[in-house]
Amino acid sequence: MDKLYRDLVDLPGAPSFEKPVRDYMREFLTPHVDEIIEDRLGSIFGIINKGSNGPKVMIAGHMDEVGAIVTGIDKTGLIKISNLGGVHGDVFLSQHFDIICDDLEKIPGVTASKPPHLTRGSTEVPKQIKFTDLLIDIGADSKDHAISLGIKVGQQVIPRNDYTVSKDGKKIFSKAWDNRFGCGMSLEIARDIEKEDLQCELYVGATVQEEVGLRGAQTASYMIKPDVFIAIDCSPCADSFGGDEISGKIGSGFLLRFIDPSAIMHRGMKKFITETADKHKIKYQYYQSKGGTDAAKVQLANSGVLVATIGMPARYIHSTTSMISIEDYAEVKKIVYTIIKMFNEEIVEEIRKNV
Ligand SMILES: [Zn+2]
Repeated sequence: MDKLYRDLVDLPGAPSFEKPVRDYMREFLTPHVDEIIEDRLGSIFGIINKGSNGPKVMIAGHMDEVGAIVTGIDKTGLIKISNLGGVHGDVFLSQHFDIICDDLEKIPGVTASKPPHLTRGSTEVPKQIKFTDLLIDIGADSKDHAISLGIKVGQQVIPRNDYTVSKDGKKIFSKAWDNRFGCGMSLEIARDIEKEDLQCELYVGATVQEEVGLRGAQTASYMIKPDVFIAIDCSPCADSFGGDEISGKIGSGFLLRFIDPSAIMHRGMKKFITETADKHKIKYQYYQSKGGTDAAKVQLANSGVLVATIGMPARYIHSTTSMISIEDYAEVKKIVYTIIKMFNEEIVEEIRKNV
């Protein structure tokens, strides 16, 4: 897999703290695009084939990752936090984190947990850990000590990354696959797809604050006013928990998200994408999700947008780590590159008519 993914997953970027990711994307995009645009919340897009009379096609990942925010420091020097995005307290227990200062200095810490020695003999029934029960121990001796080490209310808290390739060389574990994967795919598109390949005006980039309610997708779609939108996002697979044939399996191709609670895949898009994948022998799997993606928000912009989510199968997202397969990466790349080169006035009209 391209090295740029490793760079991207290592960057810190909880919702509203996407600046380091945005700076990386801006630098990467600049030599490959006609113009860069950003909205006031921080979403960023490069335009390729600017001024084309063809349809406006928007492709996006999202820059934010699930994390937490510092909400206070108790008198013993432990740090209080609130979650940013949908994460259970349990998966953040007893893990290594970095608290990120304004200058991006990382203050390491660990979520405090009681060892069995301290609970032995207790009649207390173990309960599900609430996020507000979690405290981060940075090794400070008091509140003043924590402050003197650089802790402030409002700083982002991000899991420490340990990017690891599996022994068979086909899977990669890392934090933030959801959704630096989509950011990386947008950057690869900008690098590889030439103006001459296109019959559309192409906007490639990434949104902000997806994990807290698809906020950047709303503002970015109002800025771009696309005809077509493709969200590229990691989606959770249930295959390691005995899931069924529509709950995702890593290594089985891209996820065709035909339904989730906030979007039913446009029928014209479904026909177009499945026919194209079949024709080019690109592996895909039908996928139903209980969550939403940026496509849910963008479909409602202006008088409606033809949207689809191309899903990257991923295990264990919305925790401190996750796993993807490089075989799926290849299939996602193939379908996305193929359809981008096909979008023109006639095809988009044909998709629209198939509603
Ligand atoms: Zn996501």
